[in-house]
Amino acid sequence: MASVPSVEEHVALARYTTIGTGGPARWFARPESLDELQEQLGWAAEQGVTVETIGLGSNLLVADAGVHALVLKLSGELAAARVEGETLIAGGGAPNAVALHRARAAGLGGFEFASAIPGTAGGGVRMNAGAYGRDWREVLIDVVVVDAQGARTLTADDLDLSYRHSSIGSGQVVAQVRFGLVSRPPEEVKARAAELLMKRKATQPTNKRTFGSVFKNPADGPGAGALIEKCGLKSHRIGGAQISPRHANFIENPGGATTADCIALMAEARRCVLERFDVRLEHEVQLLGPLELPPL
Ligand SMILES: Cc1cc2nc3c(=O)[nH]c(=O)nc-3n(C[C@H](O)[C@H](O)[C@H](O)COP(=O)(O)OP(=O)(O)OC[C@H]3O[C@@H](n4cnc5c(N)ncnc54)[C@H](O)[C@@H]3O)c2cc1C
Repeated sequence: MASVPSVEEHVALARYTTIGTGGPARWFARPESLDELQEQLGWAAEQGVTVETIGLGSNLLVADAGVHALVLKLSGELAAARVEGETLIAGGGAPNAVALHRARAAGLGGFEFASAIPGTAGGGVRMNAGAYGRDWREVLIDVVVVDAQGARTLTADDLDLSYRHSSIGSGQVVAQVRFGLVSRPPEEVKARAAELLMKRKATQPTNKRTFGSVFKNPADGPGAGALIEKCGLKSHRIGGAQISPRHANFIENPGGATTADCIALMAEARRCVLERFDVRLEHEVQLLGPLELPPL
């Protein structure tokens, strides 16, 4: 197979996920510009190789067997952020903390809710990430999406954004995101972001290895965490993974967990919630590689 110099082989992905589990990517690249990204996408298309993109791996479970794909992690200018007027322009790989910092320094508010979301601008689009009553949809102007066919600009309406959902699929890379923000004094932005982070620390295991919410909250009734807790599964362990003693919609890796352990815990929680409450939980965490939950 012809190689592109910037594509590495057999790269461990566990260190690129916040839960710290999973096997290697067959191919891995860190494109730093649109040109480099397009070169790598062209190579993958020529070779018939599937493409997957990761951000900070903060809502991601990677199969222990690894991923037979070219896994991209946007870097360089594709992970930077800047402000023009009241628009925050972030590379798809820009961490939310960096984007928020740029917005605050420029005296722009409206993105503070993302301070508690440890992902990237592009990962936030794919997930329509949100917290404290706000989500990406509310601040998004448009995005540049790149795939093997080239780059195009999509508006928030084109992306079909709803609760932790967008139309972005495998092989589509969110390379740039434009957010429309509003003028706000930097100290107000800082205070609001700090307040939200404190709230978060009070209820969630923010200092543990997790991948954020395991399941989406059902449309009606109690949240996924409350249902799993009522099943008596708080602190339940399988192998090296544990349902968080702090919040039952989180799985922690205190050390030595595998992705298979996490999947087994998810299956157990789903089975119990269906049996006891007749509610089918849908997973929020994204699965990468040959991975699936057993059918209910
Ligand atoms: C402690 C903790 C708290 C969290 N709190 C919240 C919260 O309050 N609200 C919330 O919504 N989420 C929360 N999350 C989950 C997570 O942070 C978000 O879903 C985040 O948006 C994921 O971004 P990421 O860059 O890490 O994406 P990843 O986890 O790396 O990937 C998630 C999905 O996005 C895709 N993707 C990533 N980048 C791109 C890109 N550039 N182009 C195309 N597809 C891409 C991946 O292929 C995958 O399907 C939390 C996670 C943790 C660990």
